Amino acid sequence: MSVIRLDIAIVGAGISGLAATRKVLSEMPGARVAVFDRADRPGGRPCSRDLGDGMGIVELGAGRFSPNSHPQLASLTAHYGQATKSFEYRLTPIHSGLSEQAIILMSEICNEIDKNYHSTELIQRHSISLRRAAVRIVGKARFDLLVDLCGYDTLNHPDLTFEEGFRLLRQHPETSILFGRQDNNWRALVGGLSSLVDSLVEDLGGQAELNLEHELVGISTEGGGDHILHFETAYGQKAVCAGKVLFALPIWNSCRINGLNLPTMVCARIQSVPLIKAYFAYAERWWGDFGLEGRCLSTTSMFRKIYFPKDANYVLIYSDGTSANKLHESFVLDSDIHTTFLQMISDALPFGTEIAALPNPQDSDYRFWPHGISFWRNGLNLIPTGHWQIGQGAAVCSDLFTSKLGWIEGALESAESAVRVLCENCISSPHN
Ligand SMILES: Cc1cc2nc3c(=O)[nH]c(=O)nc-3n(C[C@H](O)[C@H](O)[C@H](O)COP(=O)(O)OP(=O)(O)OC[C@H]3O[C@@H](n4cnc5c(N)ncnc54)[C@H](O)[C@@H]3O)c2cc1C
Repeated sequence: MSVIRLDIAIVGAGISGLAATRKVLSEMPGARVAVFDRADRPGGRPCSRDLGDGMGIVELGAGRFSPNSHPQLASLTAHYGQATKSFEYRLTPIHSGLSEQAIILMSEICNEIDKNYHSTELIQRHSISLRRAAVRIVGKARFDLLVDLCGYDTLNHPDLTFEEGFRLLRQHPETSILFGRQDNNWRALVGGLSSLVDSLVEDLGGQAELNLEHELVGISTEGGGDHILHFETAYGQKAVCAGKVLFALPIWNSCRINGLNLPTMVCARIQSVPLIKAYFAYAERWWGDFGLEGRCLSTTSMFRKIYFPKDANYVLIYSDGTSANKLHESFVLDSDIHTTFLQMISDALPFGTEIAALPNPQDSDYRFWPHGISFWRNGLNLIPTGHWQIGQGAAVCSDLFTSKLGWIEGALESAESAVRVLCENCISSPHN
């Protein structure tokens, strides 16, 4: 088997791996760099689909960011001249009809949790689950109601800490309103996040080879300190030798690479939740007649959050946790999932609206992410450096090693910090 030799190998062509490659190329001009991904397309969890005929671009993976809280992503989009648009949806729980009162009730519950959060020490916030903390503060019935109404199953996860759960509630565009926060100016890319991926790939400009359908299965070290990467490809196994390696993979994936040997304190403490995004596309935006444009309906059904855009002809559904599993199963098994969907939202429509009067979708699809996002299973982040270094020549990055876990911004921060250490001594000693 012939062995390819590189100065730096980057494993994972998601936004973090591609942004890291761009950085490496600027720090080490002339270095031999290649990127590898097991998928047949670059981009990882961002996954935009253009529905054609001006129907809109639907994000089946990551989709929104806040320039205030996500400055690196904002500057990357600005660098590539990507146009952005507002991502603003008014959270509206369906609870016996569209319930504005429910928002007031949820805000009261959140305020009580908020006060208690600030008077609880950080170490305690990391050692108790959000659920346990909140049940103590507001009682079980009120916390259950809050979780039901806000459309996030993950808030109930026994391993989600008070610290991370509170941030999820306070920072997500759908629920930040419950804390009276209007400051976040959430944005989406007009061309979809995949167009940012396209720009990043184009920017490699032949300076770094992009190898798709290359799944890293193992890594070993040579006598001279070089790394041998073992890939499975469509054409059989391939070995690559690299002086330095950056692992820009979802962390649960890095933990499964033979020979990478991430410490147990990392791998044993990672938890992930499934996510699903699905859409129904229609010839007309029928929801305008019901005042639903610009609303995000939250429901207690498996269709946890339903977005009704003002400028596109699809309805987007976003569910997490147990609901994501149920919805996935229903999409696979229920040939008439659209009727199930309409029956569920009929609660929100004016009394007497016949479901049969609503149009059938022209198109529908979904994308299920079994490990959609990861978080620490209790306890503090023990990797405050932003990345995990393995000897002099390898580093693992993950949004989990930053305070922006669950967001692209965290993945970018982590990749930047990993590249900084990997490139420290590279300029004077590129691999020969
Ligand atoms: C449904 C959903 C909605 C989200 N919404 C948002 C949002 O609105 N805003 C936001 O900021 N974030 C959001 N996120 C999170 C965001 O997608 C991630 O934080 C981000 O994609 C992380 O980037 P990454 O490059 O580190 O990892 P990824 O995007 O996961 O890319 C990693 C790449 O590694 C590849 N890979 C994995 N294993 C191997 C292997 N063994 N060998 C080779 N290649 C491998 C994968 O194929 C993938 O391409 C969302 C995630 C999901 C699933």
